[in-house]
Amino acid sequence: MDTELPDEHRMVRETVRDFCETEIEPIAQEIEDEHRFPAEIFDQLADLDMMGVPVDEEYGGLGGDTLMYALVAEELGRVSGSIGLSYVAHTSLASKPLEQFGTRAQQERWLRPLAEGEHLGGWALTEPDSGSDASDMDTTAERDGDEWVLNGTKQFITNASEAGSILVKAVTEPDAGYDGISTFIVDPHEDDGFEVTTVWDKMGLNASPTCEIRLENVRLPEDRLLGEEGEGWTQTKQTLDGGRISIAALSTGLAQGAYEHAKEYSKEREQFGQPICEFDAVRDKIVDMHRKTERARLLTHRAARTYGKGEPVTRESALAKLDASEAAREVAEDAVQVLGGYGYTTDFAPQRFYRDAKLMEIGEGTSEIQHLVIGRELGL
Ligand SMILES: Cc1cc2nc3c(=O)[nH]c(=O)nc-3n(C[C@H](O)[C@H](O)[C@H](O)COP(=O)(O)OP(=O)(O)OC[C@H]3O[C@@H](n4cnc5c(N)ncnc54)[C@H](O)[C@@H]3O)c2cc1C
Repeated sequence: MDTELPDEHRMVRETVRDFCETEIEPIAQEIEDEHRFPAEIFDQLADLDMMGVPVDEEYGGLGGDTLMYALVAEELGRVSGSIGLSYVAHTSLASKPLEQFGTRAQQERWLRPLAEGEHLGGWALTEPDSGSDASDMDTTAERDGDEWVLNGTKQFITNASEAGSILVKAVTEPDAGYDGISTFIVDPHEDDGFEVTTVWDKMGLNASPTCEIRLENVRLPEDRLLGEEGEGWTQTKQTLDGGRISIAALSTGLAQGAYEHAKEYSKEREQFGQPICEFDAVRDKIVDMHRKTERARLLTHRAARTYGKGEPVTRESALAKLDASEAAREVAEDAVQVLGGYGYTTDFAPQRFYRDAKLMEIGEGTSEIQHLVIGRELGL
Protein backbone atom coordinates (compact mmCIF):
# COMPACT_ATOMS: atom_id res chain seq x y z
CA MET A 1 0.00 0.00 0.00
CA ASP A 2 2.73 2.42 1.00
CA THR A 3 4.17 2.68 -2.49
CA GLU A 4 0.79 3.86 -3.77
CA LEU A 5 0.73 6.88 -1.46
CA PRO A 6 2.02 10.22 -2.72
CA ASP A 7 4.99 11.66 -0.80
CA GLU A 8 2.91 14.41 0.77
CA HIS A 9 0.50 11.84 2.19
CA ARG A 10 3.31 9.74 3.60
CA MET A 11 4.84 12.80 5.23
CA VAL A 12 1.58 13.76 6.91
CA ARG A 13 1.11 10.19 8.11
CA GLU A 14 4.62 10.06 9.54
CA THR A 15 4.17 13.38 11.35
CA VAL A 16 0.91 12.22 12.89
CA ARG A 17 2.27 8.77 13.78
CA ASP A 18 5.19 10.38 15.54
CA PHE A 19 2.89 12.68 17.47
CA CYS A 20 0.55 9.81 18.35
CA GLU A 21 3.38 7.66 19.70
CA THR A 22 5.02 10.37 21.77
CA GLU A 23 2.01 12.37 23.00
CA ILE A 24 -1.13 10.23 22.82
CA GLU A 25 -0.13 6.61 23.40
CA PRO A 26 1.37 7.28 26.86
CA ILE A 27 -1.92 8.79 28.11
CA ALA A 28 -4.39 6.72 26.08
CA GLN A 29 -5.49 4.44 28.93
CA GLU A 30 -5.31 7.16 31.60
CA ILE A 31 -7.76 9.48 29.81
CA GLU A 32 -10.19 6.58 29.44
CA ASP A 33 -9.93 5.65 33.11
CA GLU A 34 -10.44 9.28 34.13
CA HIS A 35 -13.14 9.91 31.49
CA ARG A 36 -11.16 13.04 30.63
CA PHE A 37 -11.43 14.91 27.33
CA PRO A 38 -7.78 15.75 26.49
CA ALA A 39 -8.13 19.35 25.24
CA GLU A 40 -4.32 19.73 25.18
CA ILE A 41 -4.02 17.03 22.50
CA PHE A 42 -6.40 18.90 20.21
CA ASP A 43 -4.43 22.12 20.78
CA GLN A 44 -1.31 20.27 19.69
CA LEU A 45 -3.09 18.79 16.67
CA ALA A 46 -4.08 22.35 15.77
CA ASP A 47 -0.41 23.41 16.05
CA LEU A 48 0.39 20.62 13.58
CA ASP A 49 -2.31 21.97 11.20
CA MET A 50 -4.30 18.76 11.52
CA MET A 51 -7.72 20.07 12.59
CA GLY A 52 -8.86 20.91 9.07
CA VAL A 53 -7.00 18.40 6.90
CA PRO A 54 -9.63 18.07 4.13
CA VAL A 55 -10.76 21.71 4.38
CA ASP A 56 -9.61 24.21 1.75
CA GLU A 57 -6.71 26.50 2.71
CA GLU A 58 -8.96 29.44 1.87
CA TYR A 59 -10.92 28.67 5.07
CA GLY A 60 -7.94 27.90 7.26
CA GLY A 61 -7.66 24.19 6.45
CA LEU A 62 -4.70 22.15 5.23
CA GLY A 63 -6.21 21.64 1.77
CA GLY A 64 -5.55 17.90 1.77
CA ASP A 65 -7.78 15.32 0.11
CA THR A 66 -10.05 12.70 1.68
CA LEU A 67 -7.31 10.07 1.48
CA MET A 68 -4.95 12.24 3.49
CA TYR A 69 -7.67 12.84 6.07
CA ALA A 70 -8.38 9.07 6.24
CA LEU A 71 -4.68 8.43 6.94
CA VAL A 72 -4.77 10.88 9.85
CA ALA A 73 -7.95 9.32 11.26
CA GLU A 74 -6.35 5.87 10.98
CA GLU A 75 -3.22 6.96 12.84
CA LEU A 76 -5.28 8.44 15.68
CA GLY A 77 -7.38 5.26 15.88
CA ARG A 78 -4.23 3.17 16.08
CA VAL A 79 -3.50 4.68 19.51
CA SER A 80 -6.78 6.14 20.83
CA GLY A 81 -10.32 5.50 19.64
CA SER A 82 -11.60 8.41 21.75
CA ILE A 83 -9.33 11.01 20.22
CA GLY A 84 -10.03 9.55 16.79
CA LEU A 85 -13.79 9.72 17.28
CA SER A 86 -13.81 13.33 18.50
CA TYR A 87 -11.49 14.22 15.63
CA VAL A 88 -13.60 12.67 12.87
CA ALA A 89 -16.88 14.07 14.25
CA HIS A 90 -15.23 17.50 14.29
CA THR A 91 -13.95 17.16 10.74
CA SER A 92 -16.40 15.23 8.60
CA LEU A 93 -19.62 15.98 10.48
CA ALA A 94 -19.10 19.50 11.83
CA SER A 95 -16.62 21.17 9.45
CA LYS A 96 -17.17 19.70 5.98
CA PRO A 97 -20.89 20.63 5.74
CA LEU A 98 -19.95 24.27 6.44
CA GLU A 99 -17.50 24.13 3.56
CA GLN A 100 -19.95 22.36 1.25
CA PHE A 101 -23.17 24.20 2.03
CA GLY A 102 -22.27 27.44 3.85
CA THR A 103 -22.20 31.00 2.55
CA ARG A 104 -18.88 32.86 2.40
CA ALA A 105 -19.83 34.73 5.59
CA GLN A 106 -20.74 31.48 7.42
CA GLN A 107 -17.48 29.89 6.33
CA GLU A 108 -15.52 32.83 7.68
CA ARG A 109 -17.46 33.00 10.94
CA TRP A 110 -17.93 29.27 11.70
CA LEU A 111 -15.65 27.12 9.54
CA ARG A 112 -12.38 28.99 9.97
CA PRO A 113 -12.21 28.54 13.78
CA LEU A 114 -12.93 24.81 13.35
CA ALA A 115 -10.36 24.30 10.60
CA GLU A 116 -7.75 26.26 12.55
CA GLY A 117 -8.52 24.24 15.67
CA GLU A 118 -9.64 27.13 17.83
CA HIS A 119 -12.43 24.90 19.07
CA LEU A 120 -14.17 21.62 18.25
CA GLY A 121 -17.40 21.15 16.34
CA GLY A 122 -20.40 18.85 16.76
CA TRP A 123 -23.24 17.56 14.57
CA ALA A 124 -26.68 16.76 15.99
CA LEU A 125 -29.00 14.45 14.08
CA THR A 126 -29.93 11.62 16.48
CA GLU A 127 -32.73 12.06 19.04
CA PRO A 128 -33.95 9.98 21.98
CA ASP A 129 -36.74 8.49 19.82
CA SER A 130 -35.13 8.55 16.37
CA GLY A 131 -31.81 6.90 15.55
CA SER A 132 -31.70 4.65 12.50
CA ASP A 133 -34.94 6.25 11.32
CA ALA A 134 -33.25 9.64 11.65
CA SER A 135 -35.60 11.70 9.51
CA ASP A 136 -38.45 10.93 11.92
CA MET A 137 -37.20 13.68 14.24
CA ASP A 138 -39.18 15.77 16.73
CA THR A 139 -36.89 18.82 16.96
CA THR A 140 -38.58 21.79 15.33
CA ALA A 141 -37.48 25.18 14.03
CA GLU A 142 -40.29 27.71 13.60
CA ARG A 143 -40.07 31.09 12.01
CA ASP A 144 -40.80 34.09 14.21
CA GLY A 145 -40.31 37.31 12.29
CA ASP A 146 -36.75 37.23 11.02
CA GLU A 147 -35.66 34.64 13.57
CA TRP A 148 -35.86 30.86 13.92
CA VAL A 149 -36.95 29.30 17.22
CA LEU A 150 -35.57 25.80 17.92
CA ASN A 151 -37.06 23.28 20.35
CA GLY A 152 -36.11 19.64 20.93
CA THR A 153 -33.65 17.13 22.37
CA LYS A 154 -30.69 15.57 20.54
CA GLN A 155 -29.07 12.35 21.74
CA PHE A 156 -25.50 10.93 21.67
CA ILE A 157 -23.89 14.05 20.24
CA THR A 158 -20.10 13.70 20.08
CA ASN A 159 -18.14 16.73 21.37
CA ALA A 160 -21.26 18.75 22.34
CA SER A 161 -19.91 19.62 25.81
CA GLU A 162 -16.63 20.89 24.28
CA ALA A 163 -17.87 22.38 21.01
CA GLY A 164 -17.77 25.97 19.78
CA SER A 165 -20.45 25.25 17.19
CA ILE A 166 -22.96 22.47 16.55
CA LEU A 167 -24.93 21.77 13.36
CA VAL A 168 -28.46 20.89 14.42
CA LYS A 169 -31.07 19.19 12.23
CA ALA A 170 -34.66 20.34 12.76
CA VAL A 171 -38.07 20.09 11.08
CA THR A 172 -39.03 23.36 9.41
CA GLU A 173 -42.05 22.04 7.50
CA PRO A 174 -43.82 19.20 9.35
CA ASP A 175 -45.80 17.74 6.44
CA ALA A 176 -43.01 17.83 3.86
CA GLY A 177 -41.21 14.60 4.89
CA TYR A 178 -37.54 14.55 3.83
CA ASP A 179 -37.97 18.01 2.28
CA GLY A 180 -39.12 19.51 5.57
CA ILE A 181 -35.76 19.20 7.37
CA SER A 182 -33.19 22.01 7.64
CA THR A 183 -29.78 22.51 9.26
CA PHE A 184 -28.95 25.27 11.77
CA ILE A 185 -25.68 26.48 13.23
CA VAL A 186 -25.94 26.69 17.02
CA ASP A 187 -23.42 28.39 19.30
CA PRO A 188 -23.47 26.41 22.58
CA HIS A 189 -21.85 29.26 24.51
CA GLU A 190 -23.82 32.25 23.22
CA ASP A 191 -27.27 30.93 22.31
CA ASP A 192 -29.71 31.07 25.24
CA GLY A 193 -31.80 27.95 25.74
CA PHE A 194 -29.00 25.50 24.79
CA GLU A 195 -28.04 23.01 27.46
CA VAL A 196 -25.95 19.85 27.71
CA THR A 197 -28.18 17.67 29.88
CA THR A 198 -26.10 14.46 30.01
CA VAL A 199 -22.56 13.33 29.29
CA TRP A 200 -22.90 9.55 28.98
CA ASP A 201 -20.70 6.94 30.66
CA LYS A 202 -20.01 4.32 28.01
CA MET A 203 -18.42 0.86 27.63
CA GLY A 204 -15.53 2.54 25.77
CA LEU A 205 -14.46 5.82 24.17
CA ASN A 206 -14.88 7.63 27.48
CA ALA A 207 -12.39 10.38 26.66
CA SER A 208 -14.71 11.45 23.82
CA PRO A 209 -17.78 13.20 25.25
CA THR A 210 -21.13 11.77 24.05
CA CYS A 211 -23.92 14.13 25.07
CA GLU A 212 -27.62 14.67 25.27
CA ILE A 213 -28.48 18.29 24.50
CA ARG A 214 -31.67 20.24 25.00
CA LEU A 215 -32.78 23.20 22.90
CA GLU A 216 -35.50 25.25 24.56
CA ASN A 217 -36.71 28.26 22.58
CA VAL A 218 -33.23 28.79 21.14
CA ARG A 219 -33.64 31.92 18.97
CA LEU A 220 -31.37 32.13 15.93
CA PRO A 221 -31.03 34.86 13.31
CA GLU A 222 -31.66 34.05 9.61
CA ASP A 223 -27.97 33.63 8.86
CA ARG A 224 -27.76 30.49 11.03
CA LEU A 225 -29.68 28.47 8.45
CA LEU A 226 -27.10 26.32 6.59
CA GLY A 227 -27.86 26.15 2.86
CA GLU A 228 -31.49 26.40 1.80
CA GLU A 229 -34.54 25.69 3.93
CA GLY A 230 -35.62 22.06 3.33
CA GLU A 231 -32.15 20.89 2.23
CA GLY A 232 -31.24 19.35 5.59
CA TRP A 233 -31.87 15.73 4.64
CA THR A 234 -30.01 15.87 1.32
CA GLN A 235 -27.10 17.45 3.19
CA THR A 236 -27.29 14.69 5.82
CA LYS A 237 -26.96 11.94 3.23
CA GLN A 238 -23.90 13.61 1.71
CA THR A 239 -22.38 14.20 5.13
CA LEU A 240 -22.86 10.55 6.07
CA ASP A 241 -21.18 9.38 2.85
CA GLY A 242 -18.06 11.19 4.05
CA GLY A 243 -18.62 10.35 7.72
CA ARG A 244 -18.71 6.63 7.01
CA ILE A 245 -15.30 6.82 5.35
CA SER A 246 -14.03 8.45 8.55
CA ILE A 247 -15.44 5.66 10.70
CA ALA A 248 -13.93 3.11 8.30
CA ALA A 249 -10.53 4.80 8.63
CA LEU A 250 -10.80 4.99 12.40
CA SER A 251 -11.80 1.30 12.49
CA THR A 252 -8.80 0.39 10.34
CA GLY A 253 -6.62 2.21 12.86
CA LEU A 254 -8.17 0.32 15.79
CA ALA A 255 -7.62 -2.97 13.97
CA GLN A 256 -4.02 -2.03 13.16
CA GLY A 257 -3.29 -1.06 16.77
CA ALA A 258 -4.80 -4.26 18.15
CA TYR A 259 -2.96 -6.39 15.58
CA GLU A 260 0.41 -4.81 16.37
CA HIS A 261 -0.01 -5.32 20.12
CA ALA A 262 -0.93 -8.98 19.62
CA LYS A 263 1.90 -9.65 17.18
CA GLU A 264 4.57 -8.16 19.44
CA TYR A 265 3.25 -9.96 22.50
CA SER A 266 3.12 -13.30 20.69
CA LYS A 267 6.84 -13.08 19.90
CA GLU A 268 7.80 -12.35 23.52
CA ARG A 269 5.44 -14.54 25.50
CA GLU A 270 6.73 -18.07 25.97
CA GLN A 271 4.72 -21.14 26.97
CA PHE A 272 5.76 -24.80 26.73
CA GLY A 273 9.29 -23.55 26.11
CA GLN A 274 8.63 -21.52 22.95
CA PRO A 275 7.18 -18.17 21.87
CA ILE A 276 3.40 -18.53 21.50
CA CYS A 277 3.57 -17.22 17.88
CA GLU A 278 5.15 -20.58 17.01
CA PHE A 279 1.91 -22.39 17.83
CA ASP A 280 -0.10 -22.75 14.62
CA ALA A 281 -3.31 -21.60 16.31
CA VAL A 282 -1.75 -18.30 17.45
CA ARG A 283 0.13 -17.66 14.21
CA ASP A 284 -3.00 -18.26 12.13
CA LYS A 285 -4.98 -15.87 14.30
CA ILE A 286 -2.39 -13.15 13.78
CA VAL A 287 -2.24 -13.77 10.05
CA ASP A 288 -6.03 -13.41 9.90
CA MET A 289 -5.86 -10.18 11.93
CA HIS A 290 -3.40 -8.83 9.38
CA ARG A 291 -5.58 -9.98 6.46
CA LYS A 292 -8.70 -8.30 7.85
CA THR A 293 -6.86 -5.07 8.61
CA GLU A 294 -5.38 -4.87 5.11
CA ARG A 295 -8.78 -5.56 3.54
CA ALA A 296 -10.40 -2.82 5.65
CA ARG A 297 -7.64 -0.40 4.62
CA LEU A 298 -8.03 -1.18 0.92
CA LEU A 299 -11.80 -0.63 0.99
CA THR A 300 -11.36 2.56 3.02
CA HIS A 301 -8.74 4.01 0.69
CA ARG A 302 -10.83 3.13 -2.34
CA ALA A 303 -13.85 4.92 -0.87
CA ALA A 304 -11.69 7.92 0.10
CA ARG A 305 -10.26 8.17 -3.42
CA THR A 306 -13.74 7.94 -4.97
CA TYR A 307 -15.08 10.61 -2.62
CA GLY A 308 -12.11 12.81 -3.45
CA LYS A 309 -12.91 12.59 -7.16
CA GLY A 310 -16.46 13.77 -6.49
CA GLU A 311 -17.93 10.53 -7.84
CA PRO A 312 -20.96 8.72 -6.30
CA VAL A 313 -19.63 7.00 -3.19
CA THR A 314 -22.64 5.78 -1.18
CA ARG A 315 -22.05 2.07 -1.89
CA GLU A 316 -18.29 2.25 -1.43
CA SER A 317 -18.40 4.25 1.80
CA ALA A 318 -21.07 1.95 3.30
CA LEU A 319 -19.05 -1.14 2.24
CA ALA A 320 -15.88 0.28 3.78
CA LYS A 321 -17.66 1.21 7.01
CA LEU A 322 -19.41 -2.16 7.30
CA ASP A 323 -16.27 -4.16 6.63
CA ALA A 324 -13.76 -2.09 8.60
CA SER A 325 -15.95 -1.83 11.72
CA GLU A 326 -16.48 -5.58 11.74
CA ALA A 327 -12.76 -6.13 11.18
CA ALA A 328 -11.91 -3.80 14.08
CA ARG A 329 -14.16 -5.67 16.49
CA GLU A 330 -12.97 -9.11 15.38
CA VAL A 331 -9.27 -8.19 15.34
CA ALA A 332 -9.51 -6.51 18.75
CA GLU A 333 -11.29 -9.54 20.20
CA ASP A 334 -8.58 -11.83 18.86
CA ALA A 335 -5.92 -9.52 20.29
CA VAL A 336 -7.44 -9.93 23.76
CA GLN A 337 -7.35 -13.70 23.20
CA VAL A 338 -3.69 -13.69 22.10
CA LEU A 339 -2.71 -11.87 25.29
CA GLY A 340 -4.64 -14.35 27.44
CA GLY A 341 -5.22 -13.19 31.02
CA TYR A 342 -3.08 -10.08 30.52
CA GLY A 343 -5.32 -9.14 27.59
CA TYR A 344 -8.21 -8.93 30.00
CA THR A 345 -6.45 -6.36 32.20
CA THR A 346 -6.37 -2.61 31.68
CA ASP A 347 -2.55 -2.68 31.84
CA PHE A 348 -2.66 -3.84 28.22
CA ALA A 349 -4.31 -2.04 25.32
CA PRO A 350 -6.32 -4.75 23.50
CA GLN A 351 -9.32 -4.57 25.88
CA ARG A 352 -9.57 -0.85 25.08
CA PHE A 353 -9.51 -1.47 21.33
CA TYR A 354 -12.15 -4.17 21.80
CA ARG A 355 -14.51 -1.86 23.71
CA ASP A 356 -13.89 1.07 21.35
CA ALA A 357 -14.36 -1.03 18.21
CA LYS A 358 -17.91 -1.98 19.14
CA LEU A 359 -19.10 1.61 18.63
CA MET A 360 -17.88 1.54 15.03
CA GLU A 361 -20.64 -0.99 14.23
CA ILE A 362 -23.24 1.38 15.70
CA GLY A 363 -22.34 5.04 15.02
CA GLU A 364 -23.11 6.77 11.70
CA GLY A 365 -25.55 4.02 10.81
CA THR A 366 -25.48 0.55 12.36
CA SER A 367 -24.22 -2.47 10.40
CA GLU A 368 -27.84 -3.44 9.77
CA ILE A 369 -28.45 -0.02 8.20
CA GLN A 370 -25.26 -0.35 6.09
CA HIS A 371 -26.73 -3.60 4.72
CA LEU A 372 -29.93 -1.70 3.85
CA VAL A 373 -27.95 1.07 2.13
CA ILE A 374 -25.78 -1.37 0.15
CA GLY A 375 -28.80 -3.49 -0.78
CA ARG A 376 -30.53 -0.39 -2.13
CA GLU A 377 -27.41 0.56 -4.08
CA LEU A 378 -27.34 -2.94 -5.59
CA GLY A 379 -30.95 -2.51 -6.70
CA LEU A 380 -32.28 -5.12 -4.24
C1 LIG B 1 -20.53 7.07 21.14
C2 LIG B 1 -21.58 7.56 20.19
C3 LIG B 1 -21.38 8.71 19.45
C4 LIG B 1 -22.37 9.21 18.59
N1 LIG B 1 -22.19 10.42 17.96
C5 LIG B 1 -23.24 10.98 17.29
C6 LIG B 1 -23.15 12.32 16.79
O1 LIG B 1 -22.11 12.99 16.92
N2 LIG B 1 -24.24 12.86 16.17
C7 LIG B 1 -25.41 12.17 15.99
O2 LIG B 1 -26.36 12.71 15.44
N3 LIG B 1 -25.52 10.88 16.45
C8 LIG B 1 -24.47 10.27 17.10
N4 LIG B 1 -24.59 8.99 17.60
C9 LIG B 1 -25.82 8.26 17.39
C10 LIG B 1 -25.71 7.05 16.47
O3 LIG B 1 -25.53 7.47 15.13
C11 LIG B 1 -26.94 6.16 16.67
O4 LIG B 1 -26.83 5.59 17.97
C12 LIG B 1 -27.09 5.11 15.61
O5 LIG B 1 -27.41 5.67 14.37
C13 LIG B 1 -28.19 4.08 15.97
O6 LIG B 1 -29.37 4.69 16.39
P1 LIG B 1 -30.05 4.23 17.76
O7 LIG B 1 -29.01 4.23 18.81
O8 LIG B 1 -31.26 5.05 18.01
O9 LIG B 1 -30.48 2.72 17.51
P2 LIG B 1 -31.86 2.21 16.87
O10 LIG B 1 -32.12 2.92 15.59
O11 LIG B 1 -32.92 2.24 17.91
O12 LIG B 1 -31.49 0.70 16.53
C14 LIG B 1 -31.58 -0.34 17.47
C15 LIG B 1 -31.29 -1.66 16.73
O13 LIG B 1 -32.32 -1.88 15.72
C16 LIG B 1 -31.70 -2.07 14.47
N5 LIG B 1 -32.52 -1.51 13.40
C17 LIG B 1 -33.14 -0.30 13.37
N6 LIG B 1 -33.78 -0.11 12.21
C18 LIG B 1 -33.54 -1.22 11.46
C19 LIG B 1 -33.92 -1.64 10.16
N7 LIG B 1 -34.66 -0.86 9.35
N8 LIG B 1 -33.49 -2.85 9.73
C20 LIG B 1 -32.73 -3.65 10.51
N9 LIG B 1 -32.33 -3.29 11.75
C21 LIG B 1 -32.74 -2.11 12.22
C22 LIG B 1 -30.36 -1.34 14.57
O14 LIG B 1 -29.44 -1.80 13.60
C23 LIG B 1 -29.95 -1.65 15.99
O15 LIG B 1 -29.36 -2.91 16.06
C24 LIG B 1 -23.59 8.47 18.44
C25 LIG B 1 -23.79 7.29 19.17
C26 LIG B 1 -22.83 6.84 20.05
C27 LIG B 1 -23.11 5.60 20.87
